[in-house]
Amino acid sequence: MNRLSSIVEQIPKSGIRDFFEIVQSMENVISLGIGEPDFVTPWHIREAAIYALERGKTAYTSNLGLPRLRKAIAHYVSEKLGVSYDPRNEILVTVGVSEGIDLALRAVLNPGDEVLYHEPCYVSYAPTILLAGGLPKPIPTRLEDDFILFSSAIEKAITPRTRVLLLNFPTNPTGAILPRSELLKIAELCIAHDLLVITDEIYSELTYDQVEHHSIAALEGMKQRVILLHGVSKAFAMTGWRLGFACGPDDLIGGMMKIHQYAILCAPNMLQEAAIEALESGAPSLLKMRNQYAQRRDFVAKRCQELGLPFSFPRGAFYIFPSIAHLGFSSKEFAMQLLHKKKVALIPGTAFGESGEGFVRCSYATSMEKLHDAFSRIEEFLHERKS
Ligand code: PLP
Repeated sequence: MNRLSSIVEQIPKSGIRDFFEIVQSMENVISLGIGEPDFVTPWHIREAAIYALERGKTAYTSNLGLPRLRKAIAHYVSEKLGVSYDPRNEILVTVGVSEGIDLALRAVLNPGDEVLYHEPCYVSYAPTILLAGGLPKPIPTRLEDDFILFSSAIEKAITPRTRVLLLNFPTNPTGAILPRSELLKIAELCIAHDLLVITDEIYSELTYDQVEHHSIAALEGMKQRVILLHGVSKAFAMTGWRLGFACGPDDLIGGMMKIHQYAILCAPNMLQEAAIEALESGAPSLLKMRNQYAQRRDFVAKRCQELGLPFSFPRGAFYIFPSIAHLGFSSKEFAMQLLHKKKVALIPGTAFGESGEGFVRCSYATSMEKLHDAFSRIEEFLHERKS
């Protein structure tokens, strides 16, 4: 007898996890695979958690999250993203953006509702949409367009069942950003077709070359139809802390809160205290880390160019997504052979959806030393293949 629900049966295990089980069984692998900062959380933030424990901050908090943290979030989002939320009823503290994505989709979808999103994309989108009863409708984006999502492509994909547009800029895995001019057109389209928008802005601090990130939530007429998801994982090197937040209109946050209060109750108390420190005083640490990522990005871009791997110059996040299509491998074959022959782990592009075929994701959130070594090994691999 099949004991799992048909939806759970349908969902494949994450391509990234499968790959990493193999990586973990091997020795001396240089991994450019994992999507998290190689830095440890800055000490002043860790200290805030320790101090919270010393003060006995061990009980449940409000379901919505600590009022002081919600105020800090409101201030931060208003300063950085240019949109104001009421900390009393428009902000919910979540267990990472991961929980926020799940809550947002479950709160708004009815069975069979379609969710549009750009692909290649973060691995959790399609499964989370399915688990919420929705239908994932990926819109492929292309290297030739710097993986920009065009409003014209969205317009073509809209049907009477389309309810939600899910955005992620800067994008994992491509490092793409969205120009404001395109964002404005997308906002107009969402208003015209009465779409809700879920925007995952977890990489919003990590843009380079004076490129500015713009939130769709801040555009005129959009706040009422946008759920803005953000968190401390990437900007403040806090992936293991599991803290994020959702901002949106009262009714949508209220719906998400109903699920959160029964499923999770609240995010951990002492970690919320640390998130206050990150948002209020983390800017200098963030700047230092971002400068490091920028240097590493320049290095990996230079190396991809030297190796003849076509790529879109990443403007944000900490990934580069070169094409390996001309080498005659599938993404998976390339990643597997590179791993077995040269012990370098890159993620096959297909982990990020079908339109990732022909690409591999390389994270540069790792030390320069490892990046140097990894790219020397990739170079050897490519040479050996030619000869
Ligand atoms: N959204 C994107 C686009 C990501 O790349 C990730 C992690 O890699 C997440 C969400 C998960 O974030 P969190 O650690 O806040 O759950």
